[in-house]
Amino acid sequence: MRTLRDIDVKGKKVLVRVDFNVPLENGRVVDDFRIRAVLPTIEYLRKQKAKVILLTHLGRPNGKKVEELRVNPIAEKLSEFFSVEKLDDCVNVEIKENDSVVLLENVQFHAGEKEKSPEFIKALTGLADVFVLEAFGQAHRDYASITLPGACAGLLMEKEIKNLSEVLNNPKHPLVVVVGGAKISTKIKMIKSFLEKADDLILGGALANTVIAAKGLSIGKSVSEKSMEEEVKKLELTNTKLHIPFDVVVATDVSAPARIAPVGRTEADEMILDIGPDTISLYKDVIKSASMIIWNGPMGVIESEKFVKGSDQIALAIAESEGFSVVGGGESIILLEKLGIKDKINHISTGGGAMLNFLAGEKLPGVEALK
Ligand code: ADP
Ligand code: MG
Repeated sequence: MRTLRDIDVKGKKVLVRVDFNVPLENGRVVDDFRIRAVLPTIEYLRKQKAKVILLTHLGRPNGKKVEELRVNPIAEKLSEFFSVEKLDDCVNVEIKENDSVVLLENVQFHAGEKEKSPEFIKALTGLADVFVLEAFGQAHRDYASITLPGACAGLLMEKEIKNLSEVLNNPKHPLVVVVGGAKISTKIKMIKSFLEKADDLILGGALANTVIAAKGLSIGKSVSEKSMEEEVKKLELTNTKLHIPFDVVVATDVSAPARIAPVGRTEADEMILDIGPDTISLYKDVIKSASMIIWNGPMGVIESEKFVKGSDQIALAIAESEGFSVVGGGESIILLEKLGIKDKINHISTGGGAMLNFLAGEKLPGVEALK
């Protein structure tokens, strides 16, 4: 794999594809984790007197200019760290020779990004002398800026690949994998893969509802994916490694009074919103014994104080565990931040879907392009 450290960047123009697809509120960046993760690379390049040109996508403009998806809030955030010049497009622009870091406009304003059009690739490669991929969060996408010919891995990309390869190829046992969150469809490949490889596979969140339903137990009006039930039934649901919640917190809606129920005793007008206390306690015991832990996705509706307890307890158990811990996923990282335990996790991945695909053993177009 080509890496930034192998390349002479002194005085050169360097295009860095980053993943600054960060959450915004009222035109301001509310979580800068993905931005901070790339600062060491930017500093490294600036020390070498390279001209740094940053390129990202933001939201889903689908090949059109969308005013609300301009990257100006990101430029504002970046200017807390260095002088930034934000340009109004990402191709056919003039790059000045000065000390400012350039931030190009949203790459997905151009249809050529997703279509990988040769003209668009040419326009991008015309911008710089060296191409660096730092957008691990997009590495599972076969897009123009993610697969630029001759690109090298930036410092963040290198760290992601090193740590996640360790988990994939050299797991320490007992290996405990905790998967929660919204949709089982986006995580089923990883679940399948770790049902074989892990010693314990712990499920929670809305995606566990689909598994509970597939087992023939009632989930009331819980959030689940009906269309995934047949596929879920094909999993070895009786495997003793597979842990699903056996008590749950239910309510008729998020603002209604909640009660604890054995799984399967959810009434038709109720929904499962968190894992219950006995499940928390068993999950914590399993996590305590781990030598390696992977966690993606919360155990319940974390947006409500009433249903965040299961996720908080699991996050704290992972932080306290002596095993090597890897965490990924937007909401999971927000929980770590809230609890102030980010520094107790061995590797926090900037990739959600990219991490899941990588850990499921799939080849990522962005990673392949670096070889
Ligand atoms: P991550 O970003 O960490 O990968 P996801 O995006 O997959 O996590 O899922 C996070 C979302 O899952 C949260 O918004 C949370 O409200 C939702 N969720 C978790 N458990 C439930 C549940 N039981 N019912 C409805 N939504 C849930
Ligand atoms: Mg998410």
